[in-house]
Amino acid sequence: MRESQQSFHSILPFQPANKLVDSHGRRITYLRLAVTDRCNLRCRYCMPAEGIPFVLHDEILRYEEMLRLINIFASLGIRKLRLTGGEPFVRTGLLDFISTIKQQQKISRTCLTTNGVAVAEHLEELAELGISGLNMSLDSLDPDRFKQITRRNYFDRAWKTFTKTLELGIPLKINSVLYDEIEASEIIALAGISKKYPVTVRFIEQMPFNGLNSVAAGALTAGQAKKILQKSFPGLEPHGASGTAALYQAPEFKGKIGFINGYSRQFCQTCDKVRITAQGMLKTCLYDSGRLDLKAMLRTGQSDAEIREAIQKTVYKRAINGFAAEAEMMDYEKNSMSAIGG
Ligand code: SAM
Ligand code: SF4
Repeated sequence: MRESQQSFHSILPFQPANKLVDSHGRRITYLRLAVTDRCNLRCRYCMPAEGIPFVLHDEILRYEEMLRLINIFASLGIRKLRLTGGEPFVRTGLLDFISTIKQQQKISRTCLTTNGVAVAEHLEELAELGISGLNMSLDSLDPDRFKQITRRNYFDRAWKTFTKTLELGIPLKINSVLYDEIEASEIIALAGISKKYPVTVRFIEQMPFNGLNSVAAGALTAGQAKKILQKSFPGLEPHGASGTAALYQAPEFKGKIGFINGYSRQFCQTCDKVRITAQGMLKTCLYDSGRLDLKAMLRTGQSDAEIREAIQKTVYKRAINGFAAEAEMMDYEKNSMSAIGG
């Protein structure tokens, strides 16, 4: 049976309450918000060197609009918020925005996903603001390979952010996309980070969101990466799960290794998150094309109550899994992860 045909919960009736629940019984408590689609890197798995037109400034949600949405989502039970992009640190005013978010009492965790390139100088302030954690993209420890993948020569800047984040004691995870025919030595070196430091290094299966609807030839699956690492670190054993990542650890490791099956989509049954794109579309699944135009609602004078109800109804109709969502997706070829937020 195809995964999209499976039913893992009976269909529940729509019962509006102060929470977000879909018709398959999954409760949503985690919101990912893309604060921009712009970026200071051009990672090959995320966007072409040229050709993704950036969205006009007016088409991007304003900070006050994002805050209004965060408050509405908080009233519906969202407790964890992740700011992403594009690269969140290319948007001016980000730290003031985070400071305002921290006043929203119901959001207990505010996290960031970043490439680390323009972050080192802001880390003290982030620590003072009480940021709950950083997820930093890092695809290689070899500066030449870093440049080849990201099309920019910024390895040193990213590494400075890595070391300083650890010094300041900000919880840190590394995200590494399994891109093209990676040398085994490359992922072994990245995994070595979690041997040496208390950091989870997560290997993410490449998804076809690079603006070209393709995945690089020879890209490893999470399963293949796991085999390589278990050969190199024989003590690497399952160690639970965190969100979408299956975790592994070896006795000599300070941190953990994670594998995210983003392409094979083996985590939909427990998915607890929704996304808002930089243009203000609500995505109830990474693989849907956006189900509710929140920006249009905000800009046509809809009340909080009307927006709340529309969000609840949209989430209720969430697809059972990423395969079902993808089957209905439009404009697939135009999708870049920089606008979705990862
Ligand atoms: N610029 C920030 C960064 O790179 O961390 C935040 C935005 S980025 C779109 C968010 C996450 O999406 C990153 O961890 C990145 O590695 C991941 N990502 C981007 N394109 C991807 C793809 N085609 N497949 C899988 N993950 C991807
Ligand atoms: Fe920029 Fe992040 Fe996309 Fe790389 S993955 S191009 S850093 S948005």
